[in-house]
Amino acid sequence: MEYKFKAEVKQVLDIVVNSLYTDKEIFVRELVSNASDACEKERFAKLSSKSEAPVSDFKISISTDEKANTFSIEDNGVGMTGSELVENLGTIAHSGSKAFINALKENKGELSNGLIGQFGVGFYSVFMVADKVDVYTMSEKGKGLHWSCDGSENFTIEDCDKSDRGTKIIASLKEEHKEFSNSARIKAIVEKYSSYVDFPIFINGEEQKNRQAIWLKTKSEVGDEQYDDFFKFQFHSYEKPLDHLHFQADAPVEVNALLYIPPENPEKFGFGKTESEVSLYCKKVLIDPSPKHMFPEWMRFVKGVIDSADIPLNISRESMQDSGLVMKLGKMVLKRFVKHLSELSKKDAKKYADVFRKFGIFLKEGAAIDFENRGELSKLLRFESSLFDNGELVSLDDYISRMKDGQKEIYYACAFDRAAIESAPYIEAFRSRGLEVLYLYDPIDSFLMGNLGEYSQKPFASVDSAKIDMPEAPLEAPKDENPISSENLEALKKWIKDTLGSDKVSEVLSGGRLVESPAAALNDDSMTPQMRAMLRAMNPSSALPPSIVKFEINPRSPVIKNLDSLRMRDESLAKLVLEQLFDNALLAAGLLENPRAMAKRINEILARVKPE
Ligand code: ADP
Ligand code: MG
Repeated sequence: MEYKFKAEVKQVLDIVVNSLYTDKEIFVRELVSNASDACEKERFAKLSSKSEAPVSDFKISISTDEKANTFSIEDNGVGMTGSELVENLGTIAHSGSKAFINALKENKGELSNGLIGQFGVGFYSVFMVADKVDVYTMSEKGKGLHWSCDGSENFTIEDCDKSDRGTKIIASLKEEHKEFSNSARIKAIVEKYSSYVDFPIFINGEEQKNRQAIWLKTKSEVGDEQYDDFFKFQFHSYEKPLDHLHFQADAPVEVNALLYIPPENPEKFGFGKTESEVSLYCKKVLIDPSPKHMFPEWMRFVKGVIDSADIPLNISRESMQDSGLVMKLGKMVLKRFVKHLSELSKKDAKKYADVFRKFGIFLKEGAAIDFENRGELSKLLRFESSLFDNGELVSLDDYISRMKDGQKEIYYACAFDRAAIESAPYIEAFRSRGLEVLYLYDPIDSFLMGNLGEYSQKPFASVDSAKIDMPEAPLEAPKDENPISSENLEALKKWIKDTLGSDKVSEVLSGGRLVESPAAALNDDSMTPQMRAMLRAMNPSSALPPSIVKFEINPRSPVIKNLDSLRMRDESLAKLVLEQLFDNALLAAGLLENPRAMAKRINEILARVKPE
């Protein structure tokens, strides 16, 4: 008997048949998932009818025939009766195709190729590759039936001699889609999308490796080794992951998530940004291997799977991101992940420190630019500190708990490494007052501090900043036996300022910052030395405005005392020495633009040093 498709089906078919969309392989995923659904339905019916009959061995068999150019798939699931055939394959009652139609309406019937590809459109997707489709089916309640359609507006249903329960679909492939009658090609597609389907899948008689979707199990059912093995398989890794998080939730969206922190940071080798590898499944069937916009960028180091039965199976990619569902899902999982890290940091600080050493850079990126999660991420930050040994990490909360009376700011120093920070003149002022300083070595750190601005209402302050207001803790400096008189000191400071010029130095200070070093340049600019370095790297040819510093001298230092007496005896040499001293300070501050001038000047000074 001949039937006409409902108008909507006709519309979908037209688009599917005529689409130039390239991702045609998804029809395999759609047919396999239908077969799996059919088996699931039958299993459920058998179990709930409490019949004594054994639950049969369900299976899905795919066969390909290159000569006949066909792709067939058979299951021993529920099958369909005549009216079910008309209803299920003749109207659009199901989720995916409905969403497709809605999108179609929203776009006033205009669908770009890209948009077509966002939908699996379920069963009908087979018409992307086939010019004729035959469905042989039998339900327990009915008889053998044969549905047939050539992609036009009609389909036929006839009796046939199928005598076992289930459904067999034979797709007669279009000549240009011959590839889908190739067994190796189909094997690869099945592996990609359907590795976790519950029922055994055979391709041309050969059973495919089924994997267990361990993310759907409860935690107590899965051992550590299984978690590790799953990671190694899924992400092609030889090494165990550092850590994992497995959780289930029902609201606001149903979700099963299994996230991993990988053994290494792949970006550390400089191969550029990694792509997120958290794939999205709906009831064990892969929907999207790397959904864009599910997570903010900084989450890209996390690997894993997220499975939600609430995602309509047939919709994929961009349409889902708009649907808001994926965003909601992403948010839920992210919150849980951040909470996990925070728990880990308390439960196992050593392991957390390990995680942070490898992946802290991503958390820093998040704290710097992911405004929504900044608060939580800041708590997860760790830094080295002047009070602890190389390699030990402290949190900002630790730091605050140790702040001195009257200390208003969180002090930090940025440089390559510990030695570079400790050899610069800045730290001594803090050290001598027993003030803790955080040591920052990542290029992103000064950017991070700038963006955060403060933590727990305590502003961050770089140790080279002229704006720091030191608390009046006792300065443990060696006693000066022979101090410069305050008149001489004022005159010296004026001479220094005049000699260097106000385009370089905004002020000359002789406060109590310095202990050992003769002088230091304090940054008085809105531009930090790190920002300068970045700008210089981005555009080496354009000159930056000169940096303006406050120049702090240490009146107790013999170098400064000598300078003071030298300027009375030989002012021109004293000027050279001062310029040298100033460049030394700029060098330590990372602000020296032209180191070559320095070498030349040193030679000049050496030439003028006369033996007594
Ligand atoms: P969905 O799977 O989202 O419901 P499909 O277009 O993939 O949409 O399938 C439409 C319907 O056809 C299914 O809901 C199911 O009732 C029926 N169907 C498809 N394939 C089979 C099958 N192999 N066995 C039994 N019923 C099937
Ligand atoms: Mg389906």
